[in-house]
Amino acid sequence: MAVPKRVFVGSLATETNTFSPLRTDLQDFKDSFYAPPGAHPPTPTLCSAVFPVARERARQYDWQVIEGTATWAEPGGIVNGRTWEFLRDQMFEEVRAAMPLDIVLLGLHGAMVAENCLDCEGEIIEGVRRIVGPDAIIGVTFDPHSHLSAKRTDNADIIVVFKEFPHTDFVIAAESLVDLAHRTSTGEVRPRISVFDCRMIEVLPTSREPMRGFVDRMKALEGHDGILSVSAIHGFMASDVPDLGSRIVVVTDDDASAGDRLAERLGMELYSFRGRTRPEFLTPAAALDAAAKLTAGRGGAPVVIADVWDNPGGGVPGDSTIVLREMMARGVTDAALASIWDPIAVRTCISAGEGARLPLRFGGKMSAAAGEPIDAEVLVERVVRDAVQSFGTSVVPLGDSVTIRVAGISVVLNTVRSQIFSPDAFSNMGIDPLSRKILVVKSTNHFHDAFSRIASHILYAAVDGPYPSDPAKNEYRNLTRAIWPRVEDPHANDTGQERLHVR
Ligand SMILES: [Zn+2]
Repeated sequence: MAVPKRVFVGSLATETNTFSPLRTDLQDFKDSFYAPPGAHPPTPTLCSAVFPVARERARQYDWQVIEGTATWAEPGGIVNGRTWEFLRDQMFEEVRAAMPLDIVLLGLHGAMVAENCLDCEGEIIEGVRRIVGPDAIIGVTFDPHSHLSAKRTDNADIIVVFKEFPHTDFVIAAESLVDLAHRTSTGEVRPRISVFDCRMIEVLPTSREPMRGFVDRMKALEGHDGILSVSAIHGFMASDVPDLGSRIVVVTDDDASAGDRLAERLGMELYSFRGRTRPEFLTPAAALDAAAKLTAGRGGAPVVIADVWDNPGGGVPGDSTIVLREMMARGVTDAALASIWDPIAVRTCISAGEGARLPLRFGGKMSAAAGEPIDAEVLVERVVRDAVQSFGTSVVPLGDSVTIRVAGISVVLNTVRSQIFSPDAFSNMGIDPLSRKILVVKSTNHFHDAFSRIASHILYAAVDGPYPSDPAKNEYRNLTRAIWPRVEDPHANDTGQERLHVR
């Protein structure tokens, strides 16, 4: 009888906006998601889907799964050095204690930056490789808003990245990784990673063309001609690191040259999309004008306006008042907004209680670029302890939260930072989202999947704020490669060979 394969799973993930006024420490991980070994819930988080998937496949694959810690902090500012070293060393200890191992599966985000480390995931994968030795299989999932260093590709055997933005396929990516790790362990396949550096940074929503078709083509390539997996790393513009930018990752069955060629072909196709992937970004005034026209004199489904840059999912505080102030100035009513992060105001409203009316200062506290705080007479409409919203099958905490009514607009104030993913962020807070003409959400595109099911129209409003949304002008000090849009044609001096990632 075969000896079961020993498989370690771990997850350490956050997305670091190095320009954010926030800082990230252990408490931020504990506030968002922290599951000690064996305590991972049956539902996945964005980056920890390898846990439930490995559990589910364990019997079929004859795996003995050893679970490490899984933790995730909401995207924020630079991770403090002690927190990073603690979480990293804890994972290394867990891997060491689990030895001997045949397979290590890591659910990482890929854009974690600590004050003393610009490539946390590179250091994690390299460190795990040192512990498990050259023969164990290391498989990793990344969020597409990742960076990618040679340290990572040199030390991992398999890399699978979520293809969709919104990331509706994070469980599918974990399933793909788990299956490929199994097939590798049986000797059925020998994965080889090929990478192409697109030398660009762009917002790449896959809910619309040209990215929609690109993702469908990537998917269609998998499973044929020795192509095991195809991924696109979009990159994360709010992070000042050397490896910032888009990459194509192709995993072949022991055919690196075919993988390199495919990665280059797809990479140059992705590069050709630059400048035409975003939806139309309106000013707040233009978005509200458009929403007023669309909703004039009719009931029916709401118009959803995304405040795309004040997105806590991109690491900013999420306490901008700019769109709300514009709504109040115009006398907009019959509207709701989620959410403004303001633990102090939430505390005050909870003390006042549901039904209380009080003068309140809220929002606009964490940065000089996100509008002034709003001072207004508010009604506390709803108090919810430990409020949550859903993101696919994942449950996302908002912390203690309140709904206040200010000048006819219902506004959710929360204590655990999160972007808005689903209409239940409103309904769980006592707001029927279908009863409002306008819903404003703080999110770049993750809201799109769930809200497109209830919205009559979706509008994107871009507000200058604390998010470094212009990569041509952002003050990157660690980025040394030429990338578009900082350079008009970063591929101008390429020879074919230089285009390929050197391993
Ligand atoms: Zn992402």
